[in-house]
Amino acid sequence: MSYTFRSNNKFGASKRFSTNGRRNNQSRGSRRPMGQYIDPARFVKTANLTLAEEYVPRHSFTDFAISQGLKDNLATKGYEIPSPIQDQAIPAALKGQDVIGIASTGTGKTAAFAVPIIQKLTTDNTSAALIIAPTRELAQQIEQECRELGKGSGLSGALLIGGSSMGTQLRDLKYNPRIVIGTPGRTKDHIERGTLKLQKFNLVVLDEVDRMLDMGFIHDVTTILDELSENRQSFFFSATMDVKIRNLISRFTKDPFTVTLKSSGGSENVHQNVVRYAGNSDRMEKLHNILLKEEVEKVIVFDETQRNVERLSNELLQRGFSAGAIHGGKTQGHRERALSRFKKSEVTILVATDVAARGIDVVDITHVINFSLPKGYDDYIHRIGRAGRAGRIGHALTFITD
Ligand code: AMP
Repeated sequence: MSYTFRSNNKFGASKRFSTNGRRNNQSRGSRRPMGQYIDPARFVKTANLTLAEEYVPRHSFTDFAISQGLKDNLATKGYEIPSPIQDQAIPAALKGQDVIGIASTGTGKTAAFAVPIIQKLTTDNTSAALIIAPTRELAQQIEQECRELGKGSGLSGALLIGGSSMGTQLRDLKYNPRIVIGTPGRTKDHIERGTLKLQKFNLVVLDEVDRMLDMGFIHDVTTILDELSENRQSFFFSATMDVKIRNLISRFTKDPFTVTLKSSGGSENVHQNVVRYAGNSDRMEKLHNILLKEEVEKVIVFDETQRNVERLSNELLQRGFSAGAIHGGKTQGHRERALSRFKKSEVTILVATDVAARGIDVVDITHVINFSLPKGYDDYIHRIGRAGRAGRIGHALTFITD
């Protein structure tokens, strides 16, 4: 879809740092987890509160060598103090250095690359940026952030994701967009069709590199990087670093500036506990009682199949809770609406499958509830990392039965 950054944000601002939700069931077929056995003791852990320590930034947004328009847009978004990754990465990026950020979603990494990129695009009209993210949801969130930060700059963009109209994407690409944001598969499709020519792109961002590799996008990603201008500035972000990721990054960056965030593991600041249940109706009653608690303000409830997610969200609606559902069987439009309502706290409970919840960035989620067990411990860590964003303490509750 074509957008100029002059337009108002069509999604509306979501209240990211404050919410208050109030909400107001039934046995289901019994299900056994099909994945690996995980010792229930691993679901019990006290959050490490020291990680919420305050970081003292060395810069303020007004110090950065960026346009007044960009400073105004940061202020409009309510960004007063740079987050640690912004504080460290923005000055290096403004000098033209490649940047590697070992940081997860929730750290402010989007603005850490969007601010220097928008600054470059508005001062050098031969430049263009390509931003690759592993999921549609993340690509959309990045687009929204760029739109808000680039408001008034006149820059145009294209969002290349699966499940949305090819016609719109083809039209947007004809207008020579200066920022192209896409998922690896759809971006590669456009390259192969000849509708996206990468030679002019001299700024590239790879977001959530670890997840892209997990999802099997390594080949698509290297194909895309190989097509880009040799003379470019690169930004790579990853929550974790291993040999494969390090190799990929070192092949495609030159003398990079690296920022590593202490708390990027994601689950240290989450209180973890189990909820024991005996039978399906007890499980539903226990969930009901938890959701009624005052402190359970905004919650993702994980369940394991599309059908069960659908059933559970209907059950919660019948019980008077404000619940939405997100899973792979829903249309892209439906997923977007459910996520947007959740972000704006129009619904305060989102029932989700693992796959659909990947890449969801909603900073004010207070609780993650594992109504069904994750398939493995890695999935568990991914799930509970949805809570406790932006240095806050989150809670994870895992339902187990003897
Ligand atoms: P990200 O890690 O980029 O997905 O950002 C996480 C959340 O923090 C988003 O909701 C941003 O809008 C918000 N955010 C990013 N930078 C700042 C900042 N400097 N001050 C306040 N909020 C921020």
